[in-house]
Amino acid sequence: MQPYQINKFGGSSLATADCFHRVSQLVSKTRQIVVVSAVGGTTNLLKSCLDIAKKSQDYSNVLDELIGKQESIVCELGLSTDIALAKLFTDDKTSLQKILTTVSLTCSYSRQIKDLVLSFGETWSAQILTALLNQKQQAVYCNAENIILVRHHLNTIHVNWQQSQQALERFIVDNECSHLVVTGFIAGDEQGGRTTLGRNGSDFSATIIATLLGASEVTIWTDVDGVYSADPHRVPQAFVIEQLSYQEILELSYFGAKVLHPSAIVPAIENNIAIHIKNTFNPSAPGTTITVDNLETEHLVRGVSSIDDVALLNIEGSGMVGVSGTAARLFKTLSDNYVSVILISQASSEHSICIAVPSCNKQMAVDVIEHTFIAEIKAGLMNSVRVDANCAVIAAVGEGMVGTPGITARLGQALAQANISIKALAQGSSERNISAVIDRADINKALRVVHSGFYLSGKTLAIGLIGPGLIGQELLQQIENAKHKLEADFDVKLCLRGMMNSKVMLTSDADLSLTTWHDDFAKASTASDFSAFAKALQQDDIPHTVIIDCSASEKVAEHYVEFMQQGIHIITPNKKANSGDLSYYYQLMALACSGNHHYLYETTVCAGLPVIKTLQDMIQSGDDIVKIEGIVSGTLAYIFNQLATGKPFSDIVAKAKEQGFTEPDPRDDLSGTDVARKMVVLAREMGLDVSLSDVQVHNLVPEALRDCSLNEFMQGLAAHDKAIANQLTELVAVDETPCYVGVITSDGNIDVKIAGYPASHPFSHLSGTDNILAFYTKRYAEQPLVVQGPGAGAAVTAAGVFSDLLRLVSFLD
Ligand code: ADP
Ligand code: ASP
Ligand code: MG
Repeated sequence: MQPYQINKFGGSSLATADCFHRVSQLVSKTRQIVVVSAVGGTTNLLKSCLDIAKKSQDYSNVLDELIGKQESIVCELGLSTDIALAKLFTDDKTSLQKILTTVSLTCSYSRQIKDLVLSFGETWSAQILTALLNQKQQAVYCNAENIILVRHHLNTIHVNWQQSQQALERFIVDNECSHLVVTGFIAGDEQGGRTTLGRNGSDFSATIIATLLGASEVTIWTDVDGVYSADPHRVPQAFVIEQLSYQEILELSYFGAKVLHPSAIVPAIENNIAIHIKNTFNPSAPGTTITVDNLETEHLVRGVSSIDDVALLNIEGSGMVGVSGTAARLFKTLSDNYVSVILISQASSEHSICIAVPSCNKQMAVDVIEHTFIAEIKAGLMNSVRVDANCAVIAAVGEGMVGTPGITARLGQALAQANISIKALAQGSSERNISAVIDRADINKALRVVHSGFYLSGKTLAIGLIGPGLIGQELLQQIENAKHKLEADFDVKLCLRGMMNSKVMLTSDADLSLTTWHDDFAKASTASDFSAFAKALQQDDIPHTVIIDCSASEKVAEHYVEFMQQGIHIITPNKKANSGDLSYYYQLMALACSGNHHYLYETTVCAGLPVIKTLQDMIQSGDDIVKIEGIVSGTLAYIFNQLATGKPFSDIVAKAKEQGFTEPDPRDDLSGTDVARKMVVLAREMGLDVSLSDVQVHNLVPEALRDCSLNEFMQGLAAHDKAIANQLTELVAVDETPCYVGVITSDGNIDVKIAGYPASHPFSHLSGTDNILAFYTKRYAEQPLVVQGPGAGAAVTAAGVFSDLLRLVSFLD
């Protein structure tokens, strides 16, 4: 006779009447063994009834909801006329009420009572499905307490394979049918009573039955397309793994991938049974196949999983050093008290042992350890157990990790980049698994960053833009133009998640459109708030966050440190931080050097021209900077170019303003402060302790016009043309070109002044608003290294910011 095919359906596949129909279609072929879980959520409700009764409280609402849920499925399936089913629920409700009354009176329940109560769910779902299948096929209901016989020993379940096999064979002979519907989760114990295989145990039921029948494969139907590289409900970038080895799935499921229960894998390994994981709601998807084979794969790490409710216990003291048997006593007492240890980490000094246990076992673990080591604690040789209660374990798993260096480093780096610290780390001797204990609050973010850290998903960066003015707008346009290529060719994904100006902000947990952001931002009504902005940007689905400050505001710059301390990277063309308060600047640089958060500010001087990076490279490669001299204001470069032609100063300023080459108030350019700030930025980069107040600045705004209105200034300027012309004649020789320059020398002196340059000098040949900087160094002593080009304008500045953004992405490797 044709062998039975074995299919198991989880609770999520049996949550509604529609689900039951879907399942009946999936098993429509003959000779099927269908192992079922309880209707989704049922076992939890049964457990709630027990816990409420234990507190002597009223459980009737929960019980009504529970029975009502099953009855409404029966009704929707058109099985209301099935008298046996109707009686089943009435009888079982009465039985449950009796058991719960006893629990309520004694305020306690034994494991046997718990197993009995929790098992009702599977008996109901299996009988409902049998009745449904019986409409077309010949289906028989089988309560697994009669065919899966087990013994509980030291918190583990031992299957009596021989007895179970005989029982199942007998059952099949006695009940020849096309469909055998078996309760998952339920088993019979040695006393002939009912027990269970533990929460999520129906997977185990399926592989036990496959073993008993000598089957070569079993299909586990669930609510996702297979085993993913991480829980798809928590890591949106996770993908289905088509083929996994038994060892890999064992590690993944042991560390929390509940798509398959770990105990279900053991019989499959021993009997070489292939396990297929498939989606009830998408049966045409290929799913995952689990066999003994290791697939050659490009990914070293096949999956990332987590256990969320963990407590970390630290046992330490001088009494542990070199005293043999301490660890043995520790683990014996835990095992004697049924506390399972998830992870162990011991320093080679033997001074301390760190263990992770399930949170529910925390108190028990502390009590038994302190009891066992009471003498040592009293003698001061050991400290009392230190407990870190709210922890989680994240594990990276893969056969390919064996013998490959650098995997632990990459895990650590991914967590560090997201500002998540590791409390304990363990690597199994198989090197198939590396697990880290972290703060529970960070677990979702950790799963996502570690997942993307192992190249399971692209490099993804959340962007918050402050100051969507001319440069900001241009930047967004440039990102929009490049984004498809970046994603397709370089696996880089840039997601705009927030915008803010001095009044309002807009944040979103989905990407903001790079084309319609203008309209969206115009509707924003939330008042700007720096900490709320930063918090909203740091979403768990994106491993890295950058704030791009395109404002010119000091107020924004004051928040960089706070942002970076939260693990946010900063990119800015705003000079205010680097030329402002010196101690704040050092704080910022110290954070940037700590390695986890990057601070990029190439565009603070000469827009997109490679100035800062050039200077940093020279210094880092051991060159000594002797002098930096340059024209770093596009506005003043233009004005001085025009002055050389003999035009009056006031006309040139008016024309420059008209053409948009100046700030709205040209005095902001003419005062020289902007040039002075840029010089301070460069000088600090050279290692000089200088501030704006140390700079000697030649202010081109006549004293009489410094405090008046803009109009008065523009009108009054002509009266000073002569004085300005005189200044030039005084400072610049006749055959020289006048320039407005900044000069820094290695002794810390900074001058922002008018100086003349001979026709042979590169400063004499500037055109338009170009900037130029000459670096005189030990290496470039005779001829300076010169950087020249457009040093202002939205397009080039935005391009410079974009380059910083791509540089940041390259650091995230
Ligand atoms: P069932 O009701 O079918 O037994 P479970 O809820 O027990 O289903 O298991 C399926 C769930 O396991 C998925 O919905 C998913 O959220 C979770 N899960 C955790 N890790 C993984 C993973 N690596 N791959 C797939 N699913 C996972
Ligand atoms: N219904 C049981 C539970 O919820 C068993 C299972 O679904 O596997 O734990
Ligand atoms: Mg399950």
